[in-house]
Amino acid sequence: MKNNGNSSGTPIIVWFRKDLRLGDNHALHAAAQTGRDIIPVYIREPADSENGPLGAAQGWWLHHSLKSLEADLDSIGSRLVLRSGKPDTALADLINETGASDIYWNRRYDPKGIAVDTPLKDQLSDQGVTVKSFAGQLLHEPLRLKTGSGTPYKVYTPFWRALEAAGEPDHPLDRPEKLAAPDRWPASNDLASWKLLPQKPDWAKSFSEVWTPGEAAALERLEAFVDDGMSGYKTRRDLPSVDGTSGLSPYLAMGEISPARIWHATRNLHNVPADDVITFRKELAWRDFSYHLLFHNPDLPRENLNRKYDAFAWSGTSDAFDRWTKGETGYPVVDAGMRQLWRHGTMHNRVRMIAASFLIKDLLIDWRRGEAWFRDTLVDADPASNAASWQWVAGSGADASPFFRVFNPILQGEKFDPDGIYVKTFVPELQDLPAKFVHRPFEAPEAVLKTAGVTLGQTYPQPLVDHAKARDRALAAYNKIKDAA
Ligand code: FAD
Repeated sequence: MKNNGNSSGTPIIVWFRKDLRLGDNHALHAAAQTGRDIIPVYIREPADSENGPLGAAQGWWLHHSLKSLEADLDSIGSRLVLRSGKPDTALADLINETGASDIYWNRRYDPKGIAVDTPLKDQLSDQGVTVKSFAGQLLHEPLRLKTGSGTPYKVYTPFWRALEAAGEPDHPLDRPEKLAAPDRWPASNDLASWKLLPQKPDWAKSFSEVWTPGEAAALERLEAFVDDGMSGYKTRRDLPSVDGTSGLSPYLAMGEISPARIWHATRNLHNVPADDVITFRKELAWRDFSYHLLFHNPDLPRENLNRKYDAFAWSGTSDAFDRWTKGETGYPVVDAGMRQLWRHGTMHNRVRMIAASFLIKDLLIDWRRGEAWFRDTLVDADPASNAASWQWVAGSGADASPFFRVFNPILQGEKFDPDGIYVKTFVPELQDLPAKFVHRPFEAPEAVLKTAGVTLGQTYPQPLVDHAKARDRALAAYNKIKDAA
């Protein structure tokens, strides 16, 4: 350790985590303000560590995001140092190699991140290293919002009111124009050696049809959404066949854009109806609410928030789970969603709810299996939003949709994708079915199926379950636990 207690003039390590951006990055901004040399670092934590690993789809995203951050840092005279290993060891090595005396980072609020950061901060401070942590991942930090009695929120609407009452998040900070660089850069891992990109098969090859990771792409997407997409958001956000939402979730998940920047971009929009702006802000606040829940209930991804669901008799089979993952349930809107997930690493929010309800209620498969599948396959996989949303659909979560509200995949499809455009995009074998049957091919007359080139059980699956019977079965299972304390 080279620290001698006098930190002026020594380099500052800025440890990037899920904040892979230059703009509105409080840790980076504060470090740049000092005028001292900055060593930006990203540490790939070991797969078996508390904080690893990311899902496979997000690994793809991370690779491209780090490349983009590297280029952005390069453009302001700096670099990104890549290291792998446990953060305490990786940072100790860097301190030894560079003589850095300070480490700055932005706080994270997931239990695994906290489990790494809290002891690390103490350990580094004990060693005489100055550690400074900053806010920026959320609109407001989880401890800031409390009910009148000082307890955490469990219901969204009062949480939203408190969030609004807390005032606007801080105005986003500009990106630094220049970072001072050390005379000698410490060694860096070769990103390719991390093997974040799938090789054979390259299952992510179609991700780039819809996604460009990185801060610049996030800012472009935000601008395009504010200019053209936000007007009408309240109704269009529910239609999976239209580009009616911001598409910002993977950028938020990796911190390529801050929620504060998004919030501020929705101010003073004179040509967007206020209702659309409020609806959008409320969605953004669901992300904060999810973190609030996770922060106060660290077991959220693993344990039912409402413990009466512990006794629920999950009886679904592995075969049914496999067919759900592959988009072969025989319910077109569910299959389209699951195939969109595989092809593009994302799924429309409305369809996420339908597909999740189908897994939990029609197939009686534990929500945790669905949560894990989404975590591995979504580019926007987020420890808080994913867990909170799965528990919301299961009925076991905070302010959750009641279990007995079972989404009907046929009626949901007909309501939100009336012409079957979304279904036909991802389930092309139903391309020629008339809209009347696109969500219920199993009810189509033989002649209609024949004309459309559909043979159920061959070109497209027979339904895995009969929804009406599956619903009764789910409600019967629920009735056995519903009165438990
Ligand atoms: P927009 O409609 O443009 O919304 C703007 C932002 O608000 C989003 O980017 C997101 O950060 C936030 N947001 C919107 N809806 C929600 C919500 N219901 N909960 C929390 N935040 C929300 N979202 C994730 O970011 N990561 C996940 O892993 C995730 N898993 C989900 C699993 C299930 C079963 C369900 C039903 C929903 C899940 N969501 C998750 C929430 C939601 O589906 C996505 O945030 C949304 O589809 C992202 O698209 P968008 O950025 O275009 O959203």
